[in-house]
Amino acid sequence: MTAYLDHAATTPLVDEAYEAVTRALREIGNPSSLHGPGRRARRVVEESRETVASVLGARPSEVVFTGGGTESDNLAVKGLFWAARAADPARDRVIASRVEHHAVLDAVTWLHDAEGARVTWIEVDGLGRVHPDALAAALAADGGPATAALVTVMWANNEVGTVNDVAALAELAHAHGIPFHTDAVQAVGQLDVDFAASGADALTVSAHKVGGPVGVGALLLGRDADVTPLLHGGGQERDVRSGTVDVAGIAGFAAALEVVRRDGAARAVQLMALRDELVERVLAAVPDAVLNGDPSPSGRLPGNAHLSFPGCEGDALLMLLDAQGVACSTGSACTAGVAKPSHVLLAMGQDIARARGSLRFSLGHTTQPADIDELVAVLPGAVERARLAGAVRPSR
Ligand code: PLP
Repeated sequence: MTAYLDHAATTPLVDEAYEAVTRALREIGNPSSLHGPGRRARRVVEESRETVASVLGARPSEVVFTGGGTESDNLAVKGLFWAARAADPARDRVIASRVEHHAVLDAVTWLHDAEGARVTWIEVDGLGRVHPDALAAALAADGGPATAALVTVMWANNEVGTVNDVAALAELAHAHGIPFHTDAVQAVGQLDVDFAASGADALTVSAHKVGGPVGVGALLLGRDADVTPLLHGGGQERDVRSGTVDVAGIAGFAAALEVVRRDGAARAVQLMALRDELVERVLAAVPDAVLNGDPSPSGRLPGNAHLSFPGCEGDALLMLLDAQGVACSTGSACTAGVAKPSHVLLAMGQDIARARGSLRFSLGHTTQPADIDELVAVLPGAVERARLAGAVRPSR
């Protein structure tokens, strides 16, 4: 049996989504076609749009379906930047937190390298949180707020699970007339995400993190938000996103969000209890392990536990646990087999050794107490072996 503790990477399809996807896959019709089959496909898309909007506190017209979180982040970051700079060439600066997912981070870096954007990074505290005063400092830097094209700060961090006060950050950006984007990929499904109440102009969501299929998501885009498209073509989604929309994927996405609406609050309470048990038992089994991120339940994602194991390489520990049937993540990027210390942990002020010796255990709708039993049964032995391997391995 596998103890699957990597729901933040992707979480299993819920039955309702599976049924909605397979039902829609059997239908024919391009939703842009005018005939009956096309109109029926269009109805599935528009009903799904209404569901997505109502679960996430948006208007249906604010839902732009995309190919997932990465595309939504790229559309928001590049699209808002291009539109703002085109309207006012003095706005040539992107303001982003240091702990964003690579879909935002690398889009920002690309704007710098290829488009001449200036970038101001917002510092985070030791828990990985973006404070309004840190955003205020970033706004005031590098020529001041009149030079900023957009602010982007994630709702909740995908590695350490720290939750930001998005409404306060959006308000600050708006006080200077600057559009605000938030990547809510990890937050939706675990926290109460309300687009209107958040004040954000653009919000990223991905279906496969909430029990829907991979390869579909949305950018919620306020009616006044001005975004230059990434993809040109038929203009299917509000003239902001071209491409034949994925009817089955969208139907599955909406079905998964219906489950979130029904079960989300109760599930969050269950996840929090399981997560607290996991942390407590891991710390008892490996007494020198350290919890990263916000220790207070309200300050972190209910399903997130992120810990450092001194003396271990995170990737070695991950493989040892995998060999014993426990699936988890280091949370950080791995290029050509060389593990890089997490940019999130480094931004939080941790040293490289602690950053490299960290693992993320993420819980979701299929997690059972037995998964934690399995982890705790094999973890101390795996940590011991990882430490021995680390002791003989030359440092890189
Ligand atoms: N943003 C965050 C915070 C994520 O955790 C992820 C996925 O891990 C993404 C964006 C990318 O989403 P997708 O896998 O749908 O492209």
